Amino acid sequence: MSSRNHYVYDEDQCRFIRVDYDKKERYFHTFSIWLVTGVVFACIGLAALSSHVGTPAELALAAENRALTSQLEVTKESILDLEHQVRGIAERDDKMYRSVLGLDPVSLEEREPGIGGADIYSEFDLYSKDTSELLKWTASRLDNLERRINVQKLSFTEIQQFYNENQERLRHIPAIRPVNGLLLSGFGMRTHPVFNYKRMHDGIDFRADIGTELFATGDGVVKYASRNGNYGNLLVIDHGFGFETRFAHISAFAEGIRVGTKVTRGELVAYSGNTGLTNGPHLHYEIHLNGEPVNPLHYLFADVTPEEYLMYQEIAESNPNSMD
Ligand SMILES: [Zn+2]
Repeated sequence: MSSRNHYVYDEDQCRFIRVDYDKKERYFHTFSIWLVTGVVFACIGLAALSSHVGTPAELALAAENRALTSQLEVTKESILDLEHQVRGIAERDDKMYRSVLGLDPVSLEEREPGIGGADIYSEFDLYSKDTSELLKWTASRLDNLERRINVQKLSFTEIQQFYNENQERLRHIPAIRPVNGLLLSGFGMRTHPVFNYKRMHDGIDFRADIGTELFATGDGVVKYASRNGNYGNLLVIDHGFGFETRFAHISAFAEGIRVGTKVTRGELVAYSGNTGLTNGPHLHYEIHLNGEPVNPLHYLFADVTPEEYLMYQEIAESNPNSMD
C-alpha cells in the first residue's frame, strides 16, 4: 500500500505530507506508469533488433537486391548465348548468302561496332563495385547486341532487294544439298585414301549407300552423263551464270537424263554409287564457277540451318582425309 502513496513537501511545515488520491486517480496513475515503461522498453528492443538484423524494410530491400542480382547473372548467360547465335547468323550471312550472291561481306568494323565512350555507363558508379560492374557489363553488351542486330537487318534488306532483282539467276545457282546424307569430308587439301598423299580435293563427300537418290541443286541443262576415269560415272549439269555441278561415282542416271536434258532444282537426276576410284560408296559433289572449283559448303543456303552449317563446317575442317 505504501508504494502507492504519494507525498508533497510542505514548506511551511518543513515535512512531507501524504497526498490522498481517490481510487480512480490511482488507477489512472498506475496505468500511465506501465504505459510509459512499456513504450520505453519496446523502443529499446526495436533499436537493438534493427542494429543487428535491420528493419523490416531493410530486410525486404536486401532480399529484393539478392533476387535482382541473381536475375542479372541469369541475364548475363542469356546475353552470351544470344551473342553466340548472332555471330553464327553473321557468319552464315557473309559466307553463304552474301558471297554466293556476289555481295561484299559486311566489314568487321560494321559488324562489331565499338562500345561508346568509356564513361557512358558512369551512372552505375554509385553502386557497390560488383553491382556496378555487372550493370555496366549488361548494359554495354545489350547495346552492342542491338547494334549488331541492326547491322544484320540492313544486310538482310539488301539481300532481299538483290533477290527480287535476280530471281532468274538465283533459280539456277546451286543452293541445296544434292543428297540426304551426312558430310564426310570437305573441300581443300586432303589425303587421298588410295594414293595416300595430300592433294587438292575439289569437292565435298557425302555418305550415301549405293542407289541413294541424287538431286539437281539448281535449274540447268545436263552437260555430261557418262563414264569418266577416276570419277566413275559422272553427271555434269550446266546452270548458266558461270555455274556447273558435278556428281561423281554414281551407279545410274535417272530416267530421261542425258546430254541436253533440262533439269530443275530438287529434281531426281541420278543414284549414288561406288564407281571409279573411291574408298567406298559415297557422293563426291563439285561446284565450278567460271571454270574453277569452289567450296560447295557455301552453296547449301536454301536448305541448311545455321546450326547445320556450323556442324558441316566443323566436320569439313576436322577430317584430313577424303573419300576419293
Ligand atoms: Zn570427294
